[in-house]
Amino acid sequence: MTSQPKSYHLPRQILFFMLIGVIIFAGSGFYTFQQIASRLDAGAASNSRDRVKEGLASLQTHVRLFSKDYNNWTDVYTAAWRGDIEFIANNYGITANQGEIFELAMMFGGPFRRPISWIENGSRSPGGLIFSVETVSSALMALEDQDETRPSVDFFAVEGGRAVIMTASYLLPDPDQIVTRDTVKASAVTMIGRHLSSRDLAVIEQDAGISNLQITTGPKPGYLSMPLTDVTGRDTLHLIWKAARPGMALVEQLAPVIAIVAAAFVALATLATWLVLKNARQLILREVEARELARTDALTGLPNRLAFNEAVQVEPTTVASEFALVMMDLDRLKQTNDVLGHAVGDCVLRDFSERLQLCADAETFVARLGGDEFCAIVRGSGAAERAQAFLAVLEVRCSKPVKVRGESVHLSFSAGIAAHVLSEHVDETLRKADLALRRGKSALEERIGIYDVDMDLADKSTLLLEQGLRAALRNPDEFRVVYQPIIPANHNGVLRVEALARWTNPILGAVGPDQFIRVAERTGLISELGWIIIDKVLADLATTQTVCASINISPLQLMKPDFVSDLLLRLKRAGIETARIQIELTENVMIRNQQAILDRIREIRSAGVKVALDDFGTGFSAISYLTATEFDSIKIDGSLLRSAGDSQNREDFFYSVVSLSRAVCRDVVVEGIETPEQAQMAKNSGADAFQGYLYGIPGAFDIACGPHSSPDLNVRASISGKADNFANLIQWSETRLQNNATILKLPLVMHPAAS
Ligand code: C2E
Ligand code: CA
Ligand code: CA
Repeated sequence: MTSQPKSYHLPRQILFFMLIGVIIFAGSGFYTFQQIASRLDAGAASNSRDRVKEGLASLQTHVRLFSKDYNNWTDVYTAAWRGDIEFIANNYGITANQGEIFELAMMFGGPFRRPISWIENGSRSPGGLIFSVETVSSALMALEDQDETRPSVDFFAVEGGRAVIMTASYLLPDPDQIVTRDTVKASAVTMIGRHLSSRDLAVIEQDAGISNLQITTGPKPGYLSMPLTDVTGRDTLHLIWKAARPGMALVEQLAPVIAIVAAAFVALATLATWLVLKNARQLILREVEARELARTDALTGLPNRLAFNEAVQVEPTTVASEFALVMMDLDRLKQTNDVLGHAVGDCVLRDFSERLQLCADAETFVARLGGDEFCAIVRGSGAAERAQAFLAVLEVRCSKPVKVRGESVHLSFSAGIAAHVLSEHVDETLRKADLALRRGKSALEERIGIYDVDMDLADKSTLLLEQGLRAALRNPDEFRVVYQPIIPANHNGVLRVEALARWTNPILGAVGPDQFIRVAERTGLISELGWIIIDKVLADLATTQTVCASINISPLQLMKPDFVSDLLLRLKRAGIETARIQIELTENVMIRNQQAILDRIREIRSAGVKVALDDFGTGFSAISYLTATEFDSIKIDGSLLRSAGDSQNREDFFYSVVSLSRAVCRDVVVEGIETPEQAQMAKNSGADAFQGYLYGIPGAFDIACGPHSSPDLNVRASISGKADNFANLIQWSETRLQNNATILKLPLVMHPAAS
C-alpha cells in the first residue's frame, strides 16, 4: 500500500550506468587502438609501395644505362649499315647469349629488313621477333614521340612467361658523334633487357623491408600489389608482396598487456559496482527502515497516524473496493496512567494493540493514532458488517483483564464505524467514523456507534444544546433542582428526597435532564454542571437539619481524580454532614472499568457519603457488583415494576430482584410507582422504600420534604384510568406546582391507596 522509496531503483540504475561506462570505455579504447594500428599498417603499406617502385626504377635505370652503352656504339652502328651481322652477333649478341649484362636483345628497322634477336643461352646466330608486333610498333611510336636526339623507352614485357625489364632505343654511333633527328629516325630500333630475377626480388624485398615478393598474373587478396606496365601502357604481370604490418605487430605485442589491463579494468569496475551496489542497498535498506520507523508507533509496533493517513488516502473509491473505517478509543487510559503509573499504561496499550492485531484479518489494517486512539480500515465486500464482527471479536478478546505488576486492568473501549459511500471523499468517511465514535463514547450501554444520517442531525441538535449549555454554565440560574420524596415502607414521613436537575433555556425552553445530561457528558461539561447541581442541593439541605438527599452523579464526574476531596470540601463549607448525602450511580456505569468504579465507591463510602445503585435490573445487572461492593441503597428500576404486571414470570422476576437486593442491602427502593397496583406489588416484594409519582412528583425542596396528606382521589383516578396521559399530567402539575409551591404551600405528597 505504501509507495516505494525513490532510491528503490538505484541498484538497477547503477548497474546500467556502470555497464554503459564499461562499454564506452572499452569500445573507445578498442577503436582508438584499432585506428592507430590500421594507420600504422597503412603507412607501412604505402611506404613499401614506394620502396618497391624505387627498386623497380633502379633496375630499369640499370637496364637503360647498359642500353645506352651498347646502342650508342659506332662499330655496331656501321656494321648494321654494312650488313655485317656476324660482327654484331660477336660483339653485341653474344652479350645477350651469355646473359651477364643483359639477357635479351632485338634489332629491327633501319638497315634491317628483318628483326634480329638474341636471348640468353640461345644460339649465336640471331633469332627473329622476340616480342609481339604490337609491342614492337608501340615501342617505335613511343620513341618517335620523344623530342630527344637519343630517346629511350623503359618498359616491362613478358618473355617465355617471365617478366623482363626492357629499354628500347635507336642504334646510333658513339655519343661524341653528332646525329641529326632524321639520322636517328632512320636508324634501327633496339630493345635490350633482362629477366626480373628472384635475386632482384630478394634485393627489393630486403630494401623495402617486405616479404613474399612474387610475380603473379594479377593481384591477390591479402597482398599488396603493383602492376608491371608494358610499352602499350597495359598491365602485364603483377608484383605482389606482404607488407610489414607494424600496427598488427603492435597489437600482437600489446595484446597480453591490453588483456591484462582490460581484465584489471573490468575487475576494478566490477569491484566498484559491487561496492556502490552494496552501499546503495544499505542506503535503501536504511531508507526503508527509516520509512517504516516513521510509520510505526514506537510503543505498540502498530502502524501510526502517518501510516494510517497514507493507507486511507489511497483507498480507491469504486464499488469493487468497499471499505469501512473503525475508530476506537480505549477507556480510562488517563486514569490508569495517573493511578497505576505510565509503565502500566504502556503495558495496557501494548496488550490492547496485540488483541487488536489478533482480531484483524488480511483485509483489515489496524493502526494507533496516538494516545488512546486506535483505528482500523476493513476492506472488501460487506466491509461495514465485517467491521462490526471485528469489534465483536475484539470485545470478547478484551473481556479478560490485563495482568500487569500484580494489577488487573480491565480493558474496554468505545468505537465508531462508518462505511465508505461510493465517490465520497475519504475525509468525509473519517468525519462520520469520528462522529460515530463520539456517539459510542457518550452512550453508556452500546459503546459502538454505527454512523447513520440521524447521527448528523442529532449532532446538530447536540451542538445547539451544547452551545446553550455552555452559556447556561456561565449563568447557573437557568438550572433548578427539584426533589422527589422517597417514602419508607411504613409511610412514616420522608426517608430522603432525590434531587433531579431541571434546565430552562431562554431560547430552547425546558430541556429534559435525559437530554442535557447526555450532551453535558458527551461534551465534557458534566463535571461543571454536576457541581452546580450539587451546590444547589447543599444550599437547600442547609435550610434544614435532618433531610437527606440523593444526588445523581454521572460516572464521568465521579471518576474525576479530585471528585471525593471536592465533594467533602463543599459539604464542609455548606455545613452538611456527609451522612445526609447519598450519591446515586446508575447501574450501567458498572459495565465499564468495574475495578476503578468499585474503588471509587469504597473511597466515597469510607468518607461517610452513602452510595446508591440506581436503575438496578435494567439489563446489565450483575450479581457480582452487589457482592463486590456494599451499596448503601439499591434502587430497583421502574421498568421492572411496570413489566411485572405483564406476566407471572415477570412478576416473579421482579420479586426475585428485590429479594436478591435485600440479601445484600437493607435499603432497597422501588422506583417509578405510579399506580396503586404497582404500589401493592412493591409492598409485597418486601422493598424498604418507595418512590414514584404516586407518592410525590418532583417539586420544590420544602414541599418534597413536607408532611404527607391523603392522596387526591381524582388524581389517583386519572392515574389508574389514563396511564398514557399520566406523564403529561405529571409534567403539567409539576411545572404548575413548582411555580405556585411557595404561594400555595400545598402538601404535594400523595399516598397510595394501598397504604
Ligand atoms: P433517575 O435517576 O432514574 O431519576 C428518576 C427519574 O424518574 C426522574 O426523571 C423522575 O422524574 C422520574 N420519575 C419519578 N417517579 C416516576 C414515576 O412514577 N414514573 C415515571 N415514569 N417516572 C418517574 P427525570 O427527572 O426526568 O430524570 C431523568 C434522569 O436524568 C434521571 O433518572 C437521572 O438519571 C438523570 N438526572 C436527573 N437529574 C440529574 C442530575 O442532577 N445529575 C445527573 N447526573 N443525572 C440527573
Ligand atoms: Ca436516580
Ligand atoms: Ca432511577
